[in-house]
Amino acid sequence: MGGGTLTTPPGTSPPGTFAVCVYCASSDRIAPHYLELAHAVGRGIAARGWTLVSGGGKHSMMGAVANGARAGGARTVGVIPRSMVEREWADTDADELHVTASMRERKQQMEDRADAFLTLPGGIGTCEELFEVWSAGALDLHVKPVVMLDPDGHWRGLLDWVAGLTGRGFAGPGPMQRLRVVTDVTAALDACAPDRVDHERRADGATRGVGPA
Ligand code: AMP
Repeated sequence: MGGGTLTTPPGTSPPGTFAVCVYCASSDRIAPHYLELAHAVGRGIAARGWTLVSGGGKHSMMGAVANGARAGGARTVGVIPRSMVEREWADTDADELHVTASMRERKQQMEDRADAFLTLPGGIGTCEELFEVWSAGALDLHVKPVVMLDPDGHWRGLLDWVAGLTGRGFAGPGPMQRLRVVTDVTAALDACAPDRVDHERRADGATRGVGPA
């Protein structure tokens, strides 16, 4: 392992709390409305009594979603590699900050700690995080909701490209069916909601967790 400051074991959210993992931008060069979006998502998570799981960064949308969640009273759980802590990128206000030895371990912990995954606008780091949980979901390796909130078409080119894979025979309809794309915060949180998880779990009899079934 080589990580540190674990206050709860990997694979658990705070008891009884539904946890949403939010993937989003870490760049400070983006337009302010993206920060407002992230803050609103954090507030929405808090309003539902859920926990936020994030990459534990304090910058940009990552900081805004965590600040929004805390402003609404939500518990925030950050998972961040040690190299980023050393560069002082960590969200030190997080209720739990789990420091990992590597990016891979960070992603695994974020996945294990969450009951649903919500992607907001972001760059290549967000892209990679999305593809990992999306492709695992499309392979039925987990049944957790994979949701994208894209109010302004930030991800349109990527989604069009993936949809085009079906027409060219590189993919079946599964990937596009597995990702729920919405344009407003309420719809995004509805798509993450626990009763949706329960419904999907009943529908296909699968178990929770990103990993081999
Ligand atoms: P970005 O979308 O590039 O602004 O990055 C958003 C988040 O993804 C940040 O927390 C980055 O640390 C993280 N990230 C960047 N590259 C990777 C990677 N290769 N694997 C996992 N996370 C990454």
